[in-house]
Amino acid sequence: MEGSGRRQKPLRDVFEEISAGKTAASDEAVAAATRLCQDLAHYAGRAAELTTAALLYEFLERSKLLERYLDPDSALVEEQARNVAKFLRLVQSAGRALATDRASFFVPHLELLREAGDDPVAADFETSRDQVNVLSIHKAKGLEFPVVFLVHATDERIPGQARLDAFRLPDALARVPVPDRDRHIAEERRLAYVAITRAQNTFYFANAIDYGFQRPSRPSRFIGEALGREPSRMSGPLRVFEELQRFQRPPADADAPLPALGADDVLTISYDAIDDYQRCALLYRFKHVLQIPVLPTPQMTYGLALHEAVRDYLRRKRDGEKPTLADLQAVFRAAWLAEGFINPAHESERFQAGLDALRRFHEQERALPPPELVEQRFSFMLGSDRVVGRWDRVDRADDGAVVVDYKAGADEEGSGRAQRAANESLQLRLYALAHERVYGERPVRTVLHFLESGERGSVAPSEDSIGAVRALVSATAGRIRSRDFLPNPKSLRTCQQCPYHQICPSSLTARSATATAVAG
Ligand code: SF4
Repeated sequence: MEGSGRRQKPLRDVFEEISAGKTAASDEAVAAATRLCQDLAHYAGRAAELTTAALLYEFLERSKLLERYLDPDSALVEEQARNVAKFLRLVQSAGRALATDRASFFVPHLELLREAGDDPVAADFETSRDQVNVLSIHKAKGLEFPVVFLVHATDERIPGQARLDAFRLPDALARVPVPDRDRHIAEERRLAYVAITRAQNTFYFANAIDYGFQRPSRPSRFIGEALGREPSRMSGPLRVFEELQRFQRPPADADAPLPALGADDVLTISYDAIDDYQRCALLYRFKHVLQIPVLPTPQMTYGLALHEAVRDYLRRKRDGEKPTLADLQAVFRAAWLAEGFINPAHESERFQAGLDALRRFHEQERALPPPELVEQRFSFMLGSDRVVGRWDRVDRADDGAVVVDYKAGADEEGSGRAQRAANESLQLRLYALAHERVYGERPVRTVLHFLESGERGSVAPSEDSIGAVRALVSATAGRIRSRDFLPNPKSLRTCQQCPYHQICPSSLTARSATATAVAG
C-alpha cells in the first residue's frame, strides 16, 4: 500500500499511520482509517468481555448493518443478511463446544472448519415469488416452489452412468462403500425423489427424445417409478425410429427390483420389513423395493456404535475372554461417526451417554454367565416365505433358552416402559418363533434390554403369541406379494418419524405434490 513505508507490515499499522496523517492519503481516507482504528480498539476491548456471538451482534448494531438488514432494499442485501444470520448460528453453536466462548478461540476454530471443507458463510438460496429459479437437484429442501420442472429427465442423465474409479480401494479398506452401479442408481433415485418434493402443487418431468445424439433419449426410469406407470410418449423427429422401436420388448415394470411373485416364488422377509410394512406400506416400498438410501440420523449413529461395542464384548466373553470396560468403550469410540448431529454439543452429549450406558452394561454383565450365541443369524421357511433375522444374544438358563434383544434408545429408569415394550413387541414374538423353528425349542423367555437405562422387559412366549405372529407374517407377506403399496401411515407421528417424509408426496406432514410427466 502506498505510504506504508516498508513491506511486510501489519495492515492495522498501515491504517494507524494513515489515521495519524503520516502518509499522503486523502482527507476521506484519513477519516475512514481513523474510524476503522477506533472500531478495532473498541472491539479488541469488548472481545475479552463478550461471547463471540454477543460481540458480533454488537458490531451489527453499532455499524447500523442490523438496521439495514431489517429492511433490505435489494436482493443482494437480503442475501447478505441471510449469510450473516447463518454465520451467527454457527458462532453460537461453536460457542457451546469451545472451552472458552471468546472470539480469540473462535477464529482458529473457524479456520479448522474451513480446512475441513466446511463453508460456514454460504447461505442456502431463498425462493422468490417473482423469478424463475434455476437450480441443481443436489441441494433441495421440501415444498419450496408452487411448480417445479425437472428438465432433461432422460435415463441417460438421471440416473446416467456411474463414474467408477479406474483404481479402486479394496472394499475392506474403504471408509465409505465404494460406488457401484446399484448404489449410483439408488442415490440418483433419492435425488429425483427429493426434487419432486420441492413442488408445493405441481411437478413436471420434462424430457426430449432428440438431444442431437445418434440414439434417441429415453425418459428417466424414475418417471415410471414415481407415477406407478410408464409415461406416455409423444412423437418427435424420430418418428420412423420410434415406429421400428414398437417391435422391441416391452419395458420392464417400474418396480423392477421386486419382481412380481407367484404363490410358489419365495419372498424373503425380516422383522424390519414387517415392521416397516405395518407402519406404512409406502414406507416399505421406498425402503425395501426402491431401496432409497437415507442419511444417517444421530439415533442411528448412536445405536450402531453401541451395538458394535456390545457385540464385540459379548463375542469375547463367549470365547472365554474377560473384556474390560476400557475394551468395551474403545470399540464404541472406534465405531463412532460424527454424522448427523445438530451441533458439537449435541454430539458430545450423545457420546457421553453412550459411554455411561456401556459402564452400566459392564456392571450388569459381571453377574451374568457368558452367552451361548451372539449376533446369530437365522432363516426359516413359513410356507413359501423365507423369514430371516439375527438374535443379538441367546443365553442358556437352567430352565431353557433366553433370547435377548438390545435397544440403544433412552428409556426412563424405573418407568416400567421396558416391560410394556416387551409385552407389545412383535420382534420378541418373531424371534421366539424363529428359535422354535430353527432349534425345535421354544425359548422360556424373550427379553428387551434398554442399554441407556439398563432396564429389561421380559415375556414368556406362549402358543397363542407364537401363533399370532405366524399369522401376521403370512398376512403381511401376502399383501407384499400382491404389491399393495398404497400409503397407510398409522398417524401423523408415523410420517414425522419416517425417514422419507421429506420426499414422500403422501406424507401427512406435507401438502401433496402431484407428479406429472411431460414429454417434449
Ligand atoms: S411419509 Fe408417511 S405416507 Fe410417506 S412413506 Fe412415510 S409414513 Fe408413508
